[in-house]
Amino acid sequence: MQRPRFRRTSLRLPCALVLAGLLGAQANAAEPGDEARWNRVAEEIFGHAELALQETKSAETLAVELEKEGFKVERGVSGMPTAFVARIGSGSPVVGILAEYDALPGLSQKSGTASKQPVVEGAPGHGCGHNLLGTAAVAAAALANRERIARKLPGTLVVFGTPAEEQIIGKTFLARDGAFVGTDVLLSWHPEDLNYVYTRPRLAITVVDVEFFGTTAHAAASPWMGRNALSALELFDHAIALMRESVLPTARMHRVIKAGGVAANVIPDYTKVQYFVRDETGERVDGMLRRLRKAADGAALATETRAQVTVLAATREPIYNEVLSRVMQQELEKAGAPAFDARDQELARAIQKEIGVETSGLALTVIPYGPLHGGTASSDVGEASAVVPLAELAVATRPQGTPAHHWAQTSCAGTDVGRKGMHVAARVLARSLEALLASPAKVAEARAEWTKATKGRPYVSPLAEGAKPARW
Ligand SMILES: [Zn+2]
Repeated sequence: MQRPRFRRTSLRLPCALVLAGLLGAQANAAEPGDEARWNRVAEEIFGHAELALQETKSAETLAVELEKEGFKVERGVSGMPTAFVARIGSGSPVVGILAEYDALPGLSQKSGTASKQPVVEGAPGHGCGHNLLGTAAVAAAALANRERIARKLPGTLVVFGTPAEEQIIGKTFLARDGAFVGTDVLLSWHPEDLNYVYTRPRLAITVVDVEFFGTTAHAAASPWMGRNALSALELFDHAIALMRESVLPTARMHRVIKAGGVAANVIPDYTKVQYFVRDETGERVDGMLRRLRKAADGAALATETRAQVTVLAATREPIYNEVLSRVMQQELEKAGAPAFDARDQELARAIQKEIGVETSGLALTVIPYGPLHGGTASSDVGEASAVVPLAELAVATRPQGTPAHHWAQTSCAGTDVGRKGMHVAARVLARSLEALLASPAKVAEARAEWTKATKGRPYVSPLAEGAKPARW
């Protein structure tokens, strides 16, 4: 696989109209009834905690909520049973929002606890807060749609149910299959420890399996007959360790050994290591991959084994659209940071103390728009942004300075800390969707910026030809 070189309803319509009229132009996630509804949805998905491409109940929960609001939902998009596309309205502009809902392995955690306490040892958990992510995206679409009806706004709202973000699968396949074509702009958000709009591109990533095939033999009686696949893996791994000296400081290469042999007295004839290769741009990742392939071949040559490198997943760095980002920043500043109370802060500080970071509690301010806001974690929003102008919002749902992919985020994702962040995200996203529906000129401006940013770089999927969505 080559990376691109550059690179219905319980609320029928009349009811919805009446409701929208009652709520008026101020309808938002702060409605007490609405908050309780979305809290239930987030709680349900938190309880399901389904892994990538297995998010059957979580995707259905969100799809059903959209149908209650009148959205027409197409399920099982791009060969992924847990992907969906929900639409409402007609004509342009076509304003989209991304929803994620997959959990992470081994991050099961009791809500509201300040030390590692799995509900079920080793079970999956929402350690990246995607129960909040998917729910806020759907809540925002529902709220914006009521506003669209009440204000007779033109255009179409689209919700993309994108599974398997944690395995860089959902949006990469949706982009390859043209699911985003026809959508003018896309908004997304992610649970974080601070409140801002992303401007620093997440890292591009390619995930590879490197396998070595050798010859087995008795490790004591006839070792000369063997060709050790573990030796090849070790040599390869050492080559990559040495290579770290001559890559940019922004590069990340990390791995787990998936197969290392079965018994010390049997010379391993098969081993497998999985590498994540990341840097600021997809081009740089491609450069490192070329060297990684040489290292694998070199290790195989030296040990008389055979190497095979297989790309499992990839996404480029996101192109953040400034026009869209500034629309979201304005709405974030109007909404303000989540109103965390003393109880929330108490939990936050206890978690920070347990982890060993500064006990500064939860973020209570909004960071002004500026460069380099965001972290180095990768996301398949990168692939979506290569096809449609995109902006991404961050809202605090965990204590400052604490990591994602961690029991602490799972703990907060099932409490008021996570839920308050989720409601702010829903409000900001809803208001931004409404602003874009109401301003075709703004949408055109965002598209002009995107066209300039991607000029001469037609979209080429990083997926191998004929690739099918599969867990790895
Ligand atoms: Zn995430």
